[in-house]
Amino acid sequence: MHILIVEDDDTIASPLATGLERAGYTVTRVDTGEDALRMPQADLVLLDLGLPDLDGSEVCRRMRGTSDVPIIVVTARGEELDRVLLLEIGADDYLVKPFGFRELLARIRAVLRRSGQSSSTPEAMQVQTLGPLVVDRRARKVMLDDAELHLTPKEFDLLAFLAANAGAAISRDEILGEVWDTDWWGSTKTLDVHIASLRRKLGTKVSIDTVRGFGFRLGEPG
Ligand code: CA
Repeated sequence: MHILIVEDDDTIASPLATGLERAGYTVTRVDTGEDALRMPQADLVLLDLGLPDLDGSEVCRRMRGTSDVPIIVVTARGEELDRVLLLEIGADDYLVKPFGFRELLARIRAVLRRSGQSSSTPEAMQVQTLGPLVVDRRARKVMLDDAELHLTPKEFDLLAFLAANAGAAISRDEILGEVWDTDWWGSTKTLDVHIASLRRKLGTKVSIDTVRGFGFRLGEPG
């Protein structure tokens, strides 16, 4: 997932870019509206309204004229903000500065999900086979060597999410936001408990690897 940050204030754009990269996104930064309009299409745009050259709402309108890329508008506190106007110019959501990073991540996921660009569960993956493991998302059933595994609903969601990204490292924040609730930012201990339980149930046939300091990865059975 490639995110374009359009923001002229480096004290905001810089930590934002770092945080999003840490969360697993590819980030490109530009600080003017003209540059934003020249960039090749991203999967999502974070757009500051107060840009040095063009008005952010004009940038939004022009982007929308040529693409349906999801756009989250970022505004400074106190800026008079008309939700109806934002919808008219084609923004998908907005955030008022200063905002929390987790709030931003939650909005990004929600917008990507609504626009059908979420990478988590493509339609084609309704029934997914990974070696001895079969994840059936329609029936919410998991088979291991043709025997059904008895999982709790959260264990199922967690395994289904890891399986959808098999072989890829997924960050803890990403897992918590996707499997729990976008508003749920409790202790990551809950995640560890569920991982431990899943590992027990999966035995030695399928491995969930710990990616130190980052998150987890479901090994692709060889
Ligand atoms: Ca600005």
